[in-house]
Amino acid sequence: MTPTRDERPDSEDSAHTVSSLWALRICELLCALMFATALPWQQPFAWFSVIAGLGMLRWWHVNRPSFRARPKQQRRRIYRIYMWVLMSYVGSACYFLYVPGNIPIQAVLMSYLLGNATLIAVRLTGDLMRTTIALCLAVLPTSIRFIVEGAAGNTLLMLMGIGGICMTIAMVFLSRAQESSVLHQYEQRRRAEAAANAVAAMGLSKSRFFAAVSHDLRQPVHAIGLYLVPLLTLAQKAQDQAAIRAVEGINQSWRALDDLLSQVLDLTRMDSGAVRADLQPTEIAPIVSSLVMQHSAVAEAAGVRVVALVRPGAFAMADGLMLIRMLSNLLDNAIKFSPPGGSVLVALRPAGALWRLQVRDNGVGIAQSAQERIFEEFVQIDNEARDRQRGLGLGLAIAKRFALLMNGNIGVRSEPGRGCCMTITLPRAARPAQPEAADAAHRLDSMPGELLPQTGPLVPVLAMRDVLLVEDDSLVALATRELLTAWGLRVRHVETAIDAFREAAYGEVAICDARLPHGASGLDVALAMRVLGKKVLLISGETNAALREAAQQHNLLLLTKPVSGAQLRSALQNL
Ligand code: ADP
Repeated sequence: MTPTRDERPDSEDSAHTVSSLWALRICELLCALMFATALPWQQPFAWFSVIAGLGMLRWWHVNRPSFRARPKQQRRRIYRIYMWVLMSYVGSACYFLYVPGNIPIQAVLMSYLLGNATLIAVRLTGDLMRTTIALCLAVLPTSIRFIVEGAAGNTLLMLMGIGGICMTIAMVFLSRAQESSVLHQYEQRRRAEAAANAVAAMGLSKSRFFAAVSHDLRQPVHAIGLYLVPLLTLAQKAQDQAAIRAVEGINQSWRALDDLLSQVLDLTRMDSGAVRADLQPTEIAPIVSSLVMQHSAVAEAAGVRVVALVRPGAFAMADGLMLIRMLSNLLDNAIKFSPPGGSVLVALRPAGALWRLQVRDNGVGIAQSAQERIFEEFVQIDNEARDRQRGLGLGLAIAKRFALLMNGNIGVRSEPGRGCCMTITLPRAARPAQPEAADAAHRLDSMPGELLPQTGPLVPVLAMRDVLLVEDDSLVALATRELLTAWGLRVRHVETAIDAFREAAYGEVAICDARLPHGASGLDVALAMRVLGKKVLLISGETNAALREAAQQHNLLLLTKPVSGAQLRSALQNL
């Protein structure tokens, strides 16, 4: 696409400097002195005074702030008028500075005109039409006179005229070449800017798209999860084995979908810059021991021993939840890739201003060539068949991003057949007045994972009776209502913040969706309900760091969709 003239920078904008003003005036004075050798001195001085006057007027006019504030089109028109008036005057030198028969002074005249032509060609770069007209006005009258008078007997004069015309044509071509080069450069810069803008806009729309998708995708997945508990209860009550197997199958697929959804959305949201780390001095030992405990059942089933050597009192500047997810993934992998009888060691070492948290195993290991690739998305070694049971290949990609968000890193050392050592590096932190780590370890309980209760009664004992449910998604509301009713609770469902306030007297517990219709904030509703004496639970469809921080700040229990029946139950019990 050719840029419009309006978009292009105007070369004359930068030509009116004080130095150029004085340089031109000095040249004019020298020319006047030169012509004064062959003409009565008043004649060339009067001539150059008019040129200097026009030049000064022009300089004064175009440097005024009011002129610079004018639209580019207007400025260009005024530049053009000045240039053409000046060049018409310069061109009339063929009458006023012409000394018939004086070849040297005629040569000086032609040099003066060609000097002007060069100046025009340089100054008007980027505007072929203006350059051509100005050149013709300045040089052609004298050249034509030289040719005409040369034809009448003076070959040198004729050659000078032809030279003037040739020079004008050459200057026009030069100007055209320069114009196309300026256009090319300008076009390249414009394209680069457009590409950078497009990338920025894409990033923005990507982040908006994923914020919306994240919320909208989580709603139905969340609803399916909530329906699973009553469905399993029904199947168990009816003692229908086929139905129980079907529900378990749905449950497994739900888990896989939940995993994939959470990981892909986390990854894309991180890439779009929508995820921030909530960096706090975080104690590492409680997180490690909670995770080792959590993985003990899986490790035992695989015949793998997990040992933790992490001394208490070591604090890192980290986001507790991110650290938990990274470490959990490393432990999963270490156990998964260890042979029966193998062992996994979690160790913490100081390294200057950093902590090195290592997860070592003596499993299959990773070839040198694959060690960089495992941190890329969907990369799995030796799983060409993409067996979902063996993971998604996203865990380490997410772990890497988490590590970078926490100003740390993650690396691998491994030899095939001799095991693998994954190292998370994190900045050290001083022990805070009130440690956060225990809190992070507690939050393990509310992380997605266990979707149906593995053990214990399906109908829990809850110390509440009436629940106000504030949820705008009818599918999710229906599923939540069914589940809560199955647990013996009475539910009143409202969809908007206004209805929630209208029904504020109902129940002792409020479950609020974080995003409500008409831009209302579930957080505000939840806080208002708490002021009215209710216990409140906030459920969000987005993994929004700002919301998480706000919930933490107000000490509100926040669950992220999809929430399983078991999670909802334990959250209600904790209330
Ligand atoms: P996945 O969910 O498939 O485990 P990850 O991103 O966590 O995805 O890991 C990517 C790949 O890195 C794995 O598929 C595996 O090939 C390799 N890998 C990760 N950890 C280990 C380990 N401890 N031992 C051997 N290979 C590993």
